[in-house]
Amino acid sequence: NQTLPFLPRSLEQLPLPRWEGRNPPNVQPGTSWDLKGQLCDLNAELKCCRERTQTLNQENQQLQDQLKEAQQQARVLGAECRTLEGELARVQAQAEQGQQELGNLRARVLELEEQLGTQQGLVQELQKEQVGLQEERRGLAARLEEQERRLQASEVALSGSQAEVASLRQEAATQATLLVAQGERLHGLEMERRRLHNQLQELKGNIRVFCRVRPVLPGEPTPSPGFLLFPSGPGGSSDTPTRLSISRLSISRSDARRGTLSGTPAPTTRHDFSFDRVFPPGSGQDQVFEEIAMLVQSGLDGYPVCIFAYGQTGSGKTFTMEGGPGGDPQVEGLIPRALRHLFSVAQELGGQGWTYSFVASYVEIYNETVRDLLATGTRKGQGSECEIRRAGPGSEELTVTNARYVPVSCEKEVEALLQLARQNRAVARTSQNERSSRSHSVFQLQISGEHAGRGLQCAAPLSLVDLAGSERLDPGLALGPGERERLRETQAINSSLSTLGLVIMALSNKESHVPYRNSKLTYLLQNSLGGSAKMLMFVNISPLEENVSESLNSLRFASKVNQCVI
Ligand code: ADP
Ligand code: MG
Repeated sequence: NQTLPFLPRSLEQLPLPRWEGRNPPNVQPGTSWDLKGQLCDLNAELKCCRERTQTLNQENQQLQDQLKEAQQQARVLGAECRTLEGELARVQAQAEQGQQELGNLRARVLELEEQLGTQQGLVQELQKEQVGLQEERRGLAARLEEQERRLQASEVALSGSQAEVASLRQEAATQATLLVAQGERLHGLEMERRRLHNQLQELKGNIRVFCRVRPVLPGEPTPSPGFLLFPSGPGGSSDTPTRLSISRLSISRSDARRGTLSGTPAPTTRHDFSFDRVFPPGSGQDQVFEEIAMLVQSGLDGYPVCIFAYGQTGSGKTFTMEGGPGGDPQVEGLIPRALRHLFSVAQELGGQGWTYSFVASYVEIYNETVRDLLATGTRKGQGSECEIRRAGPGSEELTVTNARYVPVSCEKEVEALLQLARQNRAVARTSQNERSSRSHSVFQLQISGEHAGRGLQCAAPLSLVDLAGSERLDPGLALGPGERERLRETQAINSSLSTLGLVIMALSNKESHVPYRNSKLTYLLQNSLGGSAKMLMFVNISPLEENVSESLNSLRFASKVNQCVI
């Protein structure tokens, strides 16, 4: 029942032609035809209109049908259109996805192309490397060949060496047996050396006397020429000096001067002395030590050794024994030199199985009292009195009670002990004037050796003694209270020095009684004197003319000692 919009709903609605007041175009107004004709016309027109309406209805129907059909078709087409749209959307989505995929694939392709590029580069590099490696391989192969050749050569050499080793082993075994035999022989020789060394020392004399003249010190008057002479021996100047002579004016100085003025030479008395060795002024400490090194070494072979320095105050006893001032190694004295020598020889003997130990002590004997020079702490300087005692009942060994016995094994320790002794003397000097020159200083070293492998032992003391000044007291001196003390001191010194002379004499004469007990000094040294002991006395002499009588006294005492033979 849809209607086409342009068609009227009914004919009534159609506008009829209107001509009131007007005629049809070909009819004249006022004619009879008018009404009839008009009716007829209208009928005709109506008929026509009906026909036309019919036609139009038909047409309308037709058009409505067409419309329906078209609408149907449109519906079908709409559905189809929707389907197609859906399809299109799907296809578009697919296309989009495809596009995206394509994009991804392109990117991937690019990536892969890049990778390919890298891989190709790598491949090229690897190829290059391969070429290099092949080269290297050829080189290595060549080397391997060379090494194999060498190995073969080495193997040949090795088998040769092995044979040699076997023969060397055999030889070593032979050598070892030989070595044992040599060791045995060496020990025998060492014992023989000790025996001969001792025999030599004995031939040189178990009592030896060396004379040492100190140089003139700065500020001292130069002695007149010919005052002190050192005549050469029968072998000429190449002989070691053993002689000395002192010329003394036999009259007073004023007489002598008068004599010189009147043209006659001043009358002099010449005193000749001869000793085992004479050291003129200017002889070095090393030269002096060289002469006694072998004697000191006897201590390691088990022989007691005792070295004295005898002479007036200021003649160089302390210089000879301990050394000069200032710690200059050039002027080091006998004590440090002897100990250094002993330590080094002991070390050498260590190679033959000997082990040595050394124990040092250092005491001072003043006015027949013994004082420890190694005292430390509160005992330093003053020191409680010490006594000389036997080490045990029935023992030959002597010890000093209250004195320190210090084990030493190197130079430094010895230097420290000498330093301590110097300090102790310095402290004592403030209370007693120049006491050190009025007392005997006794450095003792107990040497003990052991050969564990052979069960051998030896022990001996080495004594190094700086004696008190030997000068006599001026007999013309007035006896005040100070001088009386001094006289007592001098008497003690003189008595101990003369006791020393008597002891040596008694030993030399093989007397049954040796007066060791007459002085602390000889009592303390009794194990270092006599028997197989070696004794050496330095007689120290001042080069000054003013000391001539003391020098002569010293030289006479020393000559007496020199005549002794134990
Ligand atoms: P003593 O101990 O006999 O009293 P010293 O040893 O103290 O005598 O010597 C006295 C002085 O002479 C010291 O100044 C010392 O240094 C010096 N002296 C002694 N002997 C020598 C020498 N051989 N060479 C150089 N100076 C010496
Ligand atoms: Mg002195």
